[in-house]
Amino acid sequence: MPLFNLSNVSKPKETNYDVAIIGAGPGGLASAIYAGRAGLKTIVFEKSTEGGQILLTDMIEDYPGFVSISGNALAENFLNHAKAFGSNFTNEEIIEADLTSKIKRLKTDLGNEYTAKTVVIATGSNPRKLGVPGEEEFMNRGVSYCAVCDGSFFKDKRVVVVGGGDSAVEEGLYMTKIAKEVTLIHRRDKLRAQKIAQERAFKSKMKFIWDSVVTEIGGSKNVEYVMIKNLKTNETTKYPTDGVFIYVGLIPNTQIFKDQIKTDENGFILTDEHMETNLEGVYAVGDVRKTPLRQIVTAAADGAIAVIDMTKYFD
Ligand code: NAP
Repeated sequence: MPLFNLSNVSKPKETNYDVAIIGAGPGGLASAIYAGRAGLKTIVFEKSTEGGQILLTDMIEDYPGFVSISGNALAENFLNHAKAFGSNFTNEEIIEADLTSKIKRLKTDLGNEYTAKTVVIATGSNPRKLGVPGEEEFMNRGVSYCAVCDGSFFKDKRVVVVGGGDSAVEEGLYMTKIAKEVTLIHRRDKLRAQKIAQERAFKSKMKFIWDSVVTEIGGSKNVEYVMIKNLKTNETTKYPTDGVFIYVGLIPNTQIFKDQIKTDENGFILTDEHMETNLEGVYAVGDVRKTPLRQIVTAAADGAIAVIDMTKYFD
């Protein structure tokens, strides 16, 4: 699994900042680049060594300037760029945040407290679970949410991919290079994914099961089958497989802010056109915000817009 290692960056001694950026995915790192260039004293919090969804992607073909680049390489470019303009980085996780006052207070898992005049929430999202029997039980024993991370375990085996969005189709395509058989199971008869990805999938060896949902994942030691229910006929069939890759959407990482920040009914943060939330000086960028498009380029653009707007607090 590719790692986005910030651990070589020592913990900053300073605790008071102009800008605190929570999350080091593309939105957070683009914010750091712009904040650094604006001369703002900036800190980026990244709770893990990974750099967000970008690292879970094999090849990226829709970030301008790169016809094709690996997720890992693009993440590294973003990080090096942010470091070049002087942002501080720490591997601490924010566990408590008081964002309502003029000076924002952030508490970390290491017990440290930081203050910042402005905050960028760039905490991204996590894969949504399917919520069927066997999903938890067979986690890492055939059930996966990341083809790039776990795909190699399924060399010459049979896998199913659940979902019809960009992630399901792109990760399914990735699996066609590794697995013997890839079957995409979608609850409708039409994919949600972008046209270019759909066309590639239809030309590939991927098989499709339409109008169907997975109702159970079963096996003995490892996954051996899924139960599939056809929503039109109500017929349930047992479908043999060695792996189940689940891509049924995203859950935004907004738990710790949810009492202070306005979100939509699914937890995605509501912002104005400058990425500012309902709280002054608090911005949200990238996948965590309610947005019509979740791509690296839009997350990066969100970061740029947010930081240019926040300079009004430093005039
Ligand atoms: P998504 O676009 O929300 O798609 C989720 C898919 O799962 C949909 O097809 C949905 O079906 C299906 N689904 C949801 N709940 C389900 C359930 N309980 N059982 C069965 N199927 C279920 O999620 P995503 O594909 O992870 O993408 C997330 C965001 O990242 C999107 O905005 C996407 O465009 C973006 N993204 C972009 C790229 C790229 O640009 N290259 C790559 C990956 C992701 P319905 O279609 O019927 O709703």
